[in-house]
Amino acid sequence: MRNQGIGSWPARRCKNGAHRTALVHGERTDTYADVEHRTRQLANALRADGVGRGDRVAFVGFNHPALLETFFAVGQLGAIWVIINARLTAPEVEYILADSGASVVVYGPEHAGHAAKLAQLPGVRTWVAVEPDDGAADAPSSALSYEAFLAAGATDVIDEPVSWDDPAMIMYTSGTTGRPKGAVHTHGSLHMQYFNVLVDLDVARDDVTLAVAPMFHVAGLNMLTLPTFLKGGKIIIQPGFKPDRVLATIAAEKVTSVFAVPAMMDALASHPDFAATDLSSLTNVVVGGSPLPDRMLRTWAARGIGIQQGFGMTETAPGIYLLTAEDSLRKPSSAGRNHFFTEGRVVRLDGTDVAPGENGEVIGQGPNVMQGYWNNPGATAEAIVDGWYHTGDVATVDEDGYIYIRDRLKDMYISGGENVYPAEVENALLDLPGVAEAAVIGVPDPRWGEVGHAYVVAAEGATLTAEDVVARLAERLAKYKVPKEVVFVDELPRTATGKLQKHLIRTRSQESAL
Ligand code: ATP
Ligand code: MG
Repeated sequence: MRNQGIGSWPARRCKNGAHRTALVHGERTDTYADVEHRTRQLANALRADGVGRGDRVAFVGFNHPALLETFFAVGQLGAIWVIINARLTAPEVEYILADSGASVVVYGPEHAGHAAKLAQLPGVRTWVAVEPDDGAADAPSSALSYEAFLAAGATDVIDEPVSWDDPAMIMYTSGTTGRPKGAVHTHGSLHMQYFNVLVDLDVARDDVTLAVAPMFHVAGLNMLTLPTFLKGGKIIIQPGFKPDRVLATIAAEKVTSVFAVPAMMDALASHPDFAATDLSSLTNVVVGGSPLPDRMLRTWAARGIGIQQGFGMTETAPGIYLLTAEDSLRKPSSAGRNHFFTEGRVVRLDGTDVAPGENGEVIGQGPNVMQGYWNNPGATAEAIVDGWYHTGDVATVDEDGYIYIRDRLKDMYISGGENVYPAEVENALLDLPGVAEAAVIGVPDPRWGEVGHAYVVAAEGATLTAEDVVARLAERLAKYKVPKEVVFVDELPRTATGKLQKHLIRTRSQESAL
């Protein structure tokens, strides 16, 4: 085959194991042969619609087989897949569609209202609705039905020459710290992510992988879902995270592998069904994306399940560091060591490596690093310096070379001349009985430069006062780390993967609107 890219996977996969189950979604089950046939038709349909090499085709929606199908079909044409967070608002989606120059948009049902608002967007030629019946009243009148669009496609085998240097995907960053940036990955940078996973994790042909973390974010797509496809395993796709459904599926389907973010792991562990759920099939639990609370590691370890913590980002597809299974119970809060083909270092401001225990910035280099940000050479030059991607995250390394992620550099604040990493204070807060969620930010203070303010969501029925919280924290944290103010709130602003949006907390705190 001339196509060396991801679009060629369904056809290659069918050479061996065509009738194995590939995707399960609700009542629907697709074999690898089904995926090959459907993506071939979809590619033909897109080609007939005018999509060619280098053109951008966007998918915006929650986890659904159509998300993966569009990725493969677009790859068969040598076109570029733009994957968009389904939780964004219409103006945010508009920005990404305009920035990426997408000419075709495939959208999930929850997005019909936005699609209607954006129907007149110049540049977008074709709107395709995955489930046109849901919210049809809102959808753009010109939108095509995904199934009809696909079924009308020819069945020609398309073998476009695609190399590992060709761009495959533009994925926008999570937007945790501001406006999302479009990371461009080639077929090569993605393949090297999968290579790292297949070397460092035990992904096997008989695995059953639960794709419940959003696949519009990098780890939901690339940590276990696509590596499972590569091996010919079974992928169970769930849109949205429902703890009871996840627990029931793990037990009923003997799920072996799941990538989850810490907020999901916490929600599963505190669900009433957790204790009675048979989790014995789980062999590969990978967690990452935001700091892991100790309380979560303890609950899962008590069930004999070691968490394989990954560290990385959209720009690195994402793997830089991984704590492998054999280390997961021995070094529980660490993000492990470098992936096979990727180097990470923790460096001082002058670029030299830190000593054990010393804080520094994580930088990464390897074949899984993005080509750059789409349309944004300035941001690319800032992020990749001398071939090293600068993560903006602070970490320490222990004597054995294991990394401990502390927090984002941007979120650190300085109180009385001492650096405070809010993630450490949040971790201590989450250990207090009665605290369900916590966020800490630094705010200007005439005496100390900055001091911490904590925003706490109390657990149901808890009777906690701000004074209690401060007193309890003072028992375990140095004084400069103890927040000067504790404010109880009903909820905290988070991204789709449960990351705290500190910039929103900071503006709301200035406006006293939390
Ligand atoms: P944006 O770049 O738009 O602000 P984002 O950085 O959250 O959003 P992602 O690329 O999805 O977008 O996330 C990468 C970030 O997630 C990392 O830079 C880091 O801050 C955080 N992260 C990833 N893994 C871990 C981990 N194991 N522990 C702590 N933080 C993590
Ligand atoms: Mg980022």
